[in-house]
Amino acid sequence: MYQALYRAFRPETFDDLIGQDHIVKILKNQIASDTVGHAYLFCGTRGTGKTTTARLLAKALNCTSDGERPCGECDACRAIAAGTFIDVTELDAASNNSVDDIRTLREEVNFPPAVGRKKVYIIDEVHMLSTQAFNAFLKTLEEPPKDTVFILCTTDPNKLPATIQSRCIRLDFRRVPESVIRARFRDICARIGVKADEDALALLAGSADGSVRDGLSLLDLCIGSGDRLTREDVLDLLGMAPSELFVKLTDCVRTGDAAGALTAFAETLSEGKEALQVGRDWLDHFRSLMIIKFSDEPQNILNLSAENIERLKVQAQATDMAFISASIKTLSQALLDARWAARPRTLIELAIIEMCR
Ligand SMILES: [Zn+2]
Repeated sequence: MYQALYRAFRPETFDDLIGQDHIVKILKNQIASDTVGHAYLFCGTRGTGKTTTARLLAKALNCTSDGERPCGECDACRAIAAGTFIDVTELDAASNNSVDDIRTLREEVNFPPAVGRKKVYIIDEVHMLSTQAFNAFLKTLEEPPKDTVFILCTTDPNKLPATIQSRCIRLDFRRVPESVIRARFRDICARIGVKADEDALALLAGSADGSVRDGLSLLDLCIGSGDRLTREDVLDLLGMAPSELFVKLTDCVRTGDAAGALTAFAETLSEGKEALQVGRDWLDHFRSLMIIKFSDEPQNILNLSAENIERLKVQAQATDMAFISASIKTLSQALLDARWAARPRTLIELAIIEMCR
């Protein structure tokens, strides 16, 4: 059976994990000095390695190697990787979010580890727990059971009660830099015998926008077709990278090139994208330009990789605020009207013409 790249190349040791060096350093130190906490909160965008790191920590706590832990090779490491280690439990809070689920967990934690040194509970999407479930869980965190470690993962830490947050060691996962994702893809392609052009990898890494998992899914799609990968292959399969498209559309309307903008828009729709979604994403692009223009640290506000922000800086500087403001208003109104329109595409095309004036 074909195994997705994302699964086939899941890191087995901390050294395999990419783009989160600041977190690896902290965890390695705590493991080496035996100062691992009893509760962690892993925060960050999807696909940046939260669950993977949680498993690595679970392995490290139960690894039987004398050398660096986790070794990725002992029985405990292998069983945890396979999901068959009895003392490591993964729970998806999106589907186990009731107070009863947490009560079951609270009863379980009273028992010592069965085979390992530590029991580890990895709770994914923890912000999905119900209020009652949070309250029940808080009691567990207040009186942490011996030899148990909780690792809470979330894309949305602001939805967690402060009382939960304050009892955890919080680690923030960053979007992975494009250059790092690209190097990883280059390595994977070499290992599976695919000859990939450097500009194909660059395009893929850019589309991943800091998420290794998203990037690997795209790479999976693209290499399905053969043992060679060119930029054209990637463009054929994915269409133009979204950031490139919006830079182009914006440049066209900014310089009054209505024909160019309409053509770029039509090409995107012919790739199967939906008119309203393209319009909404374009609106986000204008917002990014505005934030980049006025903020010294746009990365703290925008959900974009550092490279994508760098790319937009050039356009933000070249575009004056009056134009951005007028475009946001025109596009917003068009999107509002288009929601109930028989032909939303037409309204967005009309907005393009108006923005060109
Ligand atoms: Zn091991």
